[in-house]
Amino acid sequence: MNGFIISDILTAMQRKELTVYYQPKVDATTNCLKSAEALVRWIRKDGSVVLPGQFLPAMEQTGAVTMLDWYVVEKVCAFLERLQKEGVKVRPVSVNFSRWHLHEEDMPKRLADIVDAHHLDHSLIVVEITESAMIHEENLMRKMVAALHEKGFEFSIDDFGSGLSSLSMVADTLPDEIKIDRSLLKKNCEDERERIILESIFLFATRLNIRTVAEGVETKEQLGFLRTCNCNLIQGFYFARPMPEDAFRECLVNRCQHNEEDILEIQSEAAAVQLLLQAVCMRYPLIIYGNLTRNSFYMMTYENFTSRGCPSTGTVDDLITHGTMSMHPEDRERWNAMFCRENQLRLFREGKKELHMITRQIGDDGVYRRVETSNYFVKSPASDDVLVISLCNNFADGEE
Ligand code: C2E
Ligand code: MG
Ligand code: MG
Repeated sequence: MNGFIISDILTAMQRKELTVYYQPKVDATTNCLKSAEALVRWIRKDGSVVLPGQFLPAMEQTGAVTMLDWYVVEKVCAFLERLQKEGVKVRPVSVNFSRWHLHEEDMPKRLADIVDAHHLDHSLIVVEITESAMIHEENLMRKMVAALHEKGFEFSIDDFGSGLSSLSMVADTLPDEIKIDRSLLKKNCEDERERIILESIFLFATRLNIRTVAEGVETKEQLGFLRTCNCNLIQGFYFARPMPEDAFRECLVNRCQHNEEDILEIQSEAAAVQLLLQAVCMRYPLIIYGNLTRNSFYMMTYENFTSRGCPSTGTVDDLITHGTMSMHPEDRERWNAMFCRENQLRLFREGKKELHMITRQIGDDGVYRRVETSNYFVKSPASDDVLVISLCNNFADGEE
């Protein structure tokens, strides 16, 4: 605790020695400033700066930290109001809220009252709570997020990946943003395992429509890799350190950071795979991934591939039966004989690598259209299972 006790900090607050610094979050693609994080600083009489790590733990222990957080919100709102009056286009600012606020029933209302008193839009303040606060408090967190959303505030999970929370816990909390903890970048994104973990997090967030911020980005290698992962925002010393109000005002006015760069030489395999999948999904309205040995499938369509909708799954046998029903009666026997699971497995064992067939399928509008089904077989690299990718191509104009 470096010798600071709570009374020291409360005195500092009264003497207005506590101030707020702002660290920009920039668009990962354009380098333009999109938002910022408010970070408290204690500037002592001699001009020395005390970082929160040196005095927050003492306040966290007793819950006195909530007082500090409200103080910071006030400061941020007053600053944004001043900027707006000066005609500066302001950006959303995230404020750190301690886990203790989860027990303040009126927290969202109190926040709304402060923001309203400064004539600001609620979208300008984002509530950041650290991931570790979720453990044991999941229900309280979910309740608070719902109340914040009702009032038009966004919610961000801080330090994602540093704690013990599960992915489902995070997804269920419905955050608008997750901030990927800088500990996940500690190998400079040059280690394969580190990359795989990051790629998985970004894929998870993208598919749930959660905005992503990478925290603590310091190098061009990290930035180059993050750009290939669909990361939305970057916060870190590479672009800017936390800065006092005046300097941040300058950033808001200038908005875009210009950096010399040649970073796109660093590419991620996952980004390429995702792009390839998107291209394939654009070409084929229906794509099915099946396991013939285990009689299971997973369906992805272009429309819901990246969206929130849950793709359908089931057994290959049911899928073939269902497919047969939607077919022109004259095509059914031929189709079923070819695509039933036993036949596909037999053909694979005989050395066939692919199957193609054109049939007539009925649409929702009652019209039959020609559809080409192409199945490609591959043995699972992890087991003896026979896997199949089914691409269905709709000849939209070829009505029969
Ligand atoms: P945080 O919310 O995760 O904030 C990000 C921290 O990472 C900040 O440290 C920031 O200065 C630092 N950082 C940003 N970019 C880089 C980088 O590229 N490299 C490195 N090494 N560090 C980077 P800071 O300001 O010392 O704050 C530490 C923590 O204290 C914050 O972590 C937050 O949890 C807490 N904190 C700060 N202000 C407040 C506040 O007003 N209320 C509450 N409850 N907590 C606060
Ligand atoms: Mg934070
Ligand atoms: Mg953080």
